[in-house]
Amino acid sequence: MSVALGFGSNLGDRKKNLEVALNKIEGLGNTALVKVSPFYSTRPVGQTGQDWFLNAAALIETGMTPQELMKALLMIEQEMGRERVTKWGPRLIDLDILFFGQKVIEENNLTVPHPYLSQRRFVLLPLNDIAPEWVHPVLKQTPEEMLARLPEEGQEAFRL
Ligand code: ADP
Ligand code: MG
Repeated sequence: MSVALGFGSNLGDRKKNLEVALNKIEGLGNTALVKVSPFYSTRPVGQTGQDWFLNAAALIETGMTPQELMKALLMIEQEMGRERVTKWGPRLIDLDILFFGQKVIEENNLTVPHPYLSQRRFVLLPLNDIAPEWVHPVLKQTPEEMLARLPEEGQEAFRL
């Protein structure tokens, strides 16, 4: 299945954190890393007053189920030393499942497509780089169409 992942970091060596996470994704069984977006420096959304983020997205091809993949991502976050202190607060690494093919999933611990995807420029910009043709299975819009509805103000993002 073709799956898009979102990456974010705003603590420590942010670039290195994304690279380590990408390497770990590449090392997962039953999974191939197909494409990686450019990195974006982005203003924090939600909790302001923290450092800017580095965000990226990657396309993978995986034979894992959505739950297996979610578990693997949480393990990578833990291995990398992420501590959940405050929701939307500073983090070493955040790994999200953005889409899982055209699947729509609403389980306790897993919502796919990612629930905030359509509201966040820091997700949509790199997503548009790796999967411009993807159509949101519920909203029926491409990343570019979702981006067009979002104001840039307060969600500034600069491609590295
Ligand atoms: P956020 O990514 O919203 O800032 P967290 O990473 O702290 O917040 O949220 C983690 C929880 O969100 C995970 O334990 C996971 O079970 C749940 N979750 C639900 N849907 C997804 C998804 N599509 N991708 C990643 N995590 C998800
Ligand atoms: Mg997350």
